[in-house]
Amino acid sequence: MKKWKVTLACVFASLMSLGQQDQSPKLVVGIVVDQMCYEYLYRYYDKYCEGGFKRFMNNGTNCRNTNYNYVPTYTGPGHASIYTGTTPSDHGIVANEWYSRHENKEVNCVEDTAVNTIGSESAYGKYSPQRLKSNTITDQLKLTYPKAKVVSMSIKNRGAILPGGHLSDGSYWFDFETGQLISSTFFATELPNWVQKFNKRKYPEKCLKEETWNTLLPIEEYHESLGDDRKYERLLVGKETPTFPYNLKAMTNDSLHYGLFTSTPFANTYLTDFALKAIENEDLGTDGQTDMLCISYSTPDIIGHSFGPYSIEIEDTYLRLDLEVKRLLQTLDSNIGKGEYIVFITADHAVVPVPQFLTDKGLPGGYVFMDSIISTIDSLCELRFGARLLEHCDNLNMYLNNDRIDSLGLQKNDVVAFFGQHLIPWKGIKRVFTTNELYEAGKDHGWKDMIRRGIHHRESGDIVVMLEPGYLPKLTDSEEARKGTSHGSAYGYDTHVPLLWYGKGIEKQEVFRNINITDISATLIHMLYLQRPNAMSGQPIVELLPHGR
Ligand SMILES: [Zn+2]
Repeated sequence: MKKWKVTLACVFASLMSLGQQDQSPKLVVGIVVDQMCYEYLYRYYDKYCEGGFKRFMNNGTNCRNTNYNYVPTYTGPGHASIYTGTTPSDHGIVANEWYSRHENKEVNCVEDTAVNTIGSESAYGKYSPQRLKSNTITDQLKLTYPKAKVVSMSIKNRGAILPGGHLSDGSYWFDFETGQLISSTFFATELPNWVQKFNKRKYPEKCLKEETWNTLLPIEEYHESLGDDRKYERLLVGKETPTFPYNLKAMTNDSLHYGLFTSTPFANTYLTDFALKAIENEDLGTDGQTDMLCISYSTPDIIGHSFGPYSIEIEDTYLRLDLEVKRLLQTLDSNIGKGEYIVFITADHAVVPVPQFLTDKGLPGGYVFMDSIISTIDSLCELRFGARLLEHCDNLNMYLNNDRIDSLGLQKNDVVAFFGQHLIPWKGIKRVFTTNELYEAGKDHGWKDMIRRGIHHRESGDIVVMLEPGYLPKLTDSEEARKGTSHGSAYGYDTHVPLLWYGKGIEKQEVFRNINITDISATLIHMLYLQRPNAMSGQPIVELLPHGR
């Protein structure tokens, strides 16, 4: 009887473990669309094809209320938060570039002077994840299962490096000098053969010499946008109006300008081509061990900054990106197998409509010109304390000169209070927080908590300024300053992003409760049976987990 019980228990245990392996997908593909607003899923819905975004929306799980839970909403912090499952207060990526007090200079979130480029002679490869202070889910997968493969790619270095984490088998980004996909010695000593071969196709160069970006559909059908020639749009290099068609050869005048290539949807096609080559050549999802492929499409952000969310350029970018998503899914179906993989799509932030457009329509919004604020604060400081006390200001963080405050025998709290008192009256400034009060903030302080999650004690300033809705900070006023747009705030237009899931075990459903961006990796670890990465603060989206429902 006892023996029978033991045998049954063993059979049961082995069935359970078999079951778990069976439940893990062969491949997880994470797609980040840089600057994608939630509403793009719906505004352009009728024009999307059946096999792209709609395949997720009609057959997968759509988390319709997914939000960033910290500021600043920029690309570096966004990618780091999606893949670490925590916020800048833990992973330390507090902006794309910030002032590092201990290094006494502005630093880029992925710069690394200790490494070198592989794949070209340029300096575009001197990047690594060394500033990322916590582990990504991709790190966790590699730590637990060394056989698992992680491959990451983007036009932007930070869009590739932060998702791939520290242990990536290959993180690749675009070299704006040579038009090649490159990496750094942090990851490998040379590019794999398949990457070298891909580079030899010279697709970016061919596009610049031969291609014209025209609208996918007849331009008069773009009712979802507000016209082609609008005063709120910046000009691409070599153009006199912000209008279609964009004849790249005529615009570059025979000198190759790879920045222009990345400002067109051709760069999305290029990255998809590269992803398909990676699936094939790295044998992703073929050995019974879950692999991860991280793709970040940077071009929607580059185009969005110039033209804003109501432009035909942005609409056309999304109609074409939809076709790229379809192409990717078709390859996953045929190479990995239908129902054997999981794909999620999200964004690293969304975007504010061009503030000048908002003010012209009588809506809240505008600009705050930092140069005049800084010069006013400097003169007030000289009058009150006998010296300038602001050391540096960027990303709406003010760094005080602590040495000078000490040598003058001043109390830092008095200086901070003085700054707050003189910043708050400026039109467009909503709140001024001192980082000391933010570090002490508890739960549920609303805006305050969002800012607290976005600062790191070693990297951030002493004072953080929050602007009113619709406002963007600019250094100085000019006609150019009032064109194009940006992001970075705690408001819905920047924080509300799509989150779509499709594939193995994912049900068709819509989830309306609040999901934080940090919940994506916190969900994936359960799909992959992993330990929580070191600083993860997100919580699993139980609706996506078979045992959680
Ligand atoms: Zn951006």
